[in-house]
Amino acid sequence: MDTKEIYARMGISPEVYEYGEKIIEKLLPRFDEIDRVAEFNQAKVLSAMQKNRVNAAHFAATTGYGYNDGGRETLEKVYADTFHTEAALVRPQITCGTHALAVALSANLRPGDELLSPVGRPYDTLEEVIGIRDSIGSLKEYGVSYRQVDLLPDSSFDYDGIRAAINERTKLVTIQRSKGYQTRLTFSSEMIGELITFIKSINPDIICMVDNCYGEFVQTIEPSDLGADMIVGSLIKNPGGGLAPIGGYICGTAKCVEQCAYRLSAPGLGQEVGANLGLLPSFFQGFFLAPTVTAGALKGSVFAANVYESLGFKVVPNSTEPRYDIIQAVELGSPEGVIAFCQGIQAAAPVDSYVTPVPWAMPGYDSEVIMAAGAFVQGSSIELSADGPIRPPYAVYFQGGLTWFHAKTGILMSLQKMLDAGLVTL
Ligand SMILES: *Cc1c(COP(=O)(O)O)cnc(C)c1O
Repeated sequence: MDTKEIYARMGISPEVYEYGEKIIEKLLPRFDEIDRVAEFNQAKVLSAMQKNRVNAAHFAATTGYGYNDGGRETLEKVYADTFHTEAALVRPQITCGTHALAVALSANLRPGDELLSPVGRPYDTLEEVIGIRDSIGSLKEYGVSYRQVDLLPDSSFDYDGIRAAINERTKLVTIQRSKGYQTRLTFSSEMIGELITFIKSINPDIICMVDNCYGEFVQTIEPSDLGADMIVGSLIKNPGGGLAPIGGYICGTAKCVEQCAYRLSAPGLGQEVGANLGLLPSFFQGFFLAPTVTAGALKGSVFAANVYESLGFKVVPNSTEPRYDIIQAVELGSPEGVIAFCQGIQAAAPVDSYVTPVPWAMPGYDSEVIMAAGAFVQGSSIELSADGPIRPPYAVYFQGGLTWFHAKTGILMSLQKMLDAGLVTL
């Protein structure tokens, strides 16, 4: 039995398989570039582990208060050294990306301060953290005001607008690297670095925080290499490498991270408490695997863009653009397209592959949403996943894949479902 045949037994026809192979042939130089970035990042993580003399004692579980947790302290040094920051907070007590961002913001802002987003509207869940949408315990309730400067129509920074928005109360600037579910571009670390330099030239005391979700290890440098005071993200995305079952990180200046530690635990306690609950082996090993896992997910996005663009669909980013995160949007143009695509991703999953996802009215959304996820870790989006609201332009957002081959299988399966539904012809 050969590869084509094993795929056929899984429900992917030879026709679909061959279509994919022709696309991949042209992508080999691109994949080689992605591998080169992964190789560099692998060395970066490995050096940080060696420098900090990671050993088996660092994998021991702690419980209760978690005092004298050498493993936890070493993991945080490994993160700090990898991302070239003075300090890091990497904890299972940080529930998710939104929580990490909420801690970083509320820890470094005080009543009367102003928060500025110079890159337009932030990620959905941040709207409630900030108080753009009223919510219990928002920054707004604590007397922190918010200002936003939208991007120019071509996704570039509105420098004049940003200069005008900065005032004596501006304490912290939040910059979201990934486009999330918007249609703008994702920013490169270099672009973010330029923006930070501009902001610091107006007032060097303004804290620059980057929402780094989905961006880690996509490039050889991170925003923390180019002036960010804090970078923040989720461990069930890129840096957890698919193994971390929960968690978030904040890497940055000693001063900012110290504030975060006191906010996460309690005034007077800070970074000294927080049991690891036996999760450190998966945190260390996941971080070790993260550069190659991210590379696999990235190849999947590039492959999806090229497959669907060649069939006439609009894809963002397009088939040739450089990439600064792992998210791929595909505009399928019809509800049936979104449903078929997501059902294909689900059918290719290692977990819950027999489940058929259907659109449902999710709380907080104004249209029905369909989600495909067959993940080892619930809600993990470094694992192969896709979702889309059932409304024009009927776009599906696709990301993840713990291995390139699994991402490939998922995309081929989505194409098979589209073909079976009569929505494409090869
Ligand atoms: C995922 C994400 C978040 C929030 O993370 P959760 O883990 O879902 O809370 C914030 N910002 C961006 C850009 C994200 O992609």
